[in-house]
This record gives sequence, structure tokens and C-alpha cells, in this order.
Amino acid sequence: MPTSTFDIDEKTLEVGMGMMAYAAVSQLTAQRSNYSRTMKKKKPRFMMIYRCASCGMDSGFTEKEKPVCRYCDVKKDMTLISKKEITPEVMAERLKELSDRMFSNLRSAFESMTEEDKVAFPEDEDPEKMMLTLLAKAKKFKEDVEKLELKQPKRRRAKGGTAPR
Ligand SMILES: [Zn+2]
Repeated sequence: MPTSTFDIDEKTLEVGMGMMAYAAVSQLTAQRSNYSRTMKKKKPRFMMIYRCASCGMDSGFTEKEKPVCRYCDVKKDMTLISKKEITPEVMAERLKELSDRMFSNLRSAFESMTEEDKVAFPEDEDPEKMMLTLLAKAKKFKEDVEKLELKQPKRRRAKGGTAPR
């Protein structure tokens, strides 16, 4: 069960999402240039999604990484729920899913913030201002992710989308 507790700080957001974004962007770039030439042995091949038995949230890893829950830092009790070969589509899809989740988490955290929560902030920080800044960053990130998908070379659509024509 995802909790409503606000536990995504800005660092987590930048590090975690930044890495995902980097991975997705480098995959997209690699495909646009010469894909086979840039594919080296050391590159991870699979995107594995694990669900944490402790908090129920899922986290994505390559087969080169050790699954550690990104939400509660639990190393064990991670159940493999999906394994897909890494493609720009797979990465973009995952990234979009995460950015949607992050954005709605942030927004609901902001909306449910009580006066008590606000008191917990450092005195010189305005909690609303901080949240709004964070929210704006998350929104920008979400939009960037959506744009990223549009930049993909046009090919067959994986799912039955709303392709005009
Ligand atoms: Zn967890």
C-alpha cells in the first residue's frame, strides 16, 4: 500500500529521476545514431521491475544492479514483477509512469499538508514556497518526459493508440 506520507525529498527526486532520465535519454540517443555500434558488452540489457514486500512500491533496475527499494531502502523481499529488454520505448514508458506518480504524490502531499507539518519545516523556510518550487520542478520534469516520447523516431505503435489517418 502506498502511503500518503511525504517521503520524496528533492535529493531523491533529482538523483533517482535524474538517473532514469539519463538512462532513457542515452538509450534514445543511441538508437538515433548507430545503435548496434554503441551497444557494448557492459551495457545492461534488461529493465527489471521489483515490488517491495515491505511498502508495496515498485522500483526499476537493470540486471547489473542490486534491487533495493527506492522508497524504504529495504534490500530483501523484492519480488521481480516484470523483466523487459531495454528499448527506448520501455524506458520512456517507465519514465512516464514514474513522473506521473511522482507528480501526483507531490501534489497530494502538498494538498494534505497540515499546519503541524508546516511547523516541522525549518524556521527560515517557507514550506508552501518550498513545496511549490518542488512541484514546479516536478511538473517541468513531467513535461520534459512527455516531450521526450514525442521525439522518438516514428515506428509502429506498441499499443492501440489514437493514431490519426
Ligand atoms: Zn519498500
